[in-house]
Amino acid sequence: VNHVDRTELLRRIDLAGLLEVLAPAGERRQRGRWRCLHPDHEDRHPSVSMTVVDGIGRWRCWSCGRGGTAIDALLAARNLTVGEAIRQLAGGALAHPLPREEREDGPVPLHLSVESYAGACQRVLWTRAGRPVLDWLTERRGLSVVVLRVNRMGADPGPRLLARRRGLPRAGVAAVLPVFDPTGRLSYLQARYLEPGDGPKYGNPSRRLGTNPRLAWTRTPTLRNPDLLLVCEGIIDALTAATAGLPAVAVLGAAYPSIKVADTIACQAGDRQLVIAFDGDDPGRVAADRLHRLLTTRGVSARVWDLPEGADLNTLAQTSAGWGDRLAELRTVPA
Ligand SMILES: [Zn+2]
Repeated sequence: VNHVDRTELLRRIDLAGLLEVLAPAGERRQRGRWRCLHPDHEDRHPSVSMTVVDGIGRWRCWSCGRGGTAIDALLAARNLTVGEAIRQLAGGALAHPLPREEREDGPVPLHLSVESYAGACQRVLWTRAGRPVLDWLTERRGLSVVVLRVNRMGADPGPRLLARRRGLPRAGVAAVLPVFDPTGRLSYLQARYLEPGDGPKYGNPSRRLGTNPRLAWTRTPTLRNPDLLLVCEGIIDALTAATAGLPAVAVLGAAYPSIKVADTIACQAGDRQLVIAFDGDDPGRVAADRLHRLLTTRGVSARVWDLPEGADLNTLAQTSAGWGDRLAELRTVPA
C-alpha cells in the first residue's frame, strides 16, 4: 500500500466507529471519550478523544500520550504490524468484527547474542576504548566504580569497533546497561547513547532477541538503608540510588507502569518501605501516580517523592549531597 492509498484508506475509515470496537467497555460511557486502547494502560476514566484533520481521524490518550491514526489504534489495541493493520482496515474491518488477537505470544527468552554483547561491552568499559563511557558514567553521572562493576555495566565503542548481531543496538557509542531479574540473572539490556543527537536516547534489542521485562533490579554493594526500596525511572537513576547505598529497582519506560510491573514490585517489596522517585515532569508524575494507585490496590503502601520540576534522581543527587539521608527522614513522615 503506497502513501496515497494509505491516505485514501485513512479518509474512508470511521475512526469513532473503530474506537467503539477497540476501546475496552466500561461502566462509564461518555460521548466522544473512550478508554485507552493499549492493554497496559488501565484507563478507568476514559482519556481518549479524537479530532479529524484534513479528513483523517486522529485519536489521543491524554493520560499516557499514545495516539495517532486508525492504523496506530490497531497497533496499540491489537499489537498488529503496520502491514497487518492496513490489511484489516482495507478489508472492511468495520463491517466485520476484528478477530481478537492476543497481545503477546508470550515472552521471548533472551537470545544468547544479547548476553555475549553484554559481556563484550563489559570488558570494553575497563579498557582505553571504553574510557569515554566510563568518564560519562563516573564524572557526568556521578556513579561509583564499585556500583558499575557489580552491575556489570559496559561500554559499546560503536559498530565499527565492535561487531554485533542484527537487532542489537547500533546507533553509536553507548553505555550498556544490563537488566537483571529479581534473582539477579541477566534478563535484558539497554544502550544509552552518549550522543543521541535527534535520535532516541536509548537502544533496545529487537523483540526477536528478548522481551523487555520493564523492570531492572539493581545491585547495591554497600547497603546503607535496607528497609527502603526506591522505585526509579530508568537504570541510571537506580544506579544513582545504589551509589548512595539504597536498594533500587528501575521501571523501564516509566510512562507506562503496567499491572504486571506493579504485581512484581508488590511481590518483591517484602517489608521494605517503597518510595517512588520518578522524574519531575508531567509523564513522571502521571506514571508515579498510576504506579502508586496500582500498588495501593495490591495492599502495598508506597510514598511518592515529588522531585523538583525538571529534575531526575541523578541530577538531584549531583546537586544535593546527602539526599539519601533526607530520604530516610521522608520515611518517618506519616502518610
Ligand atoms: Zn493511554
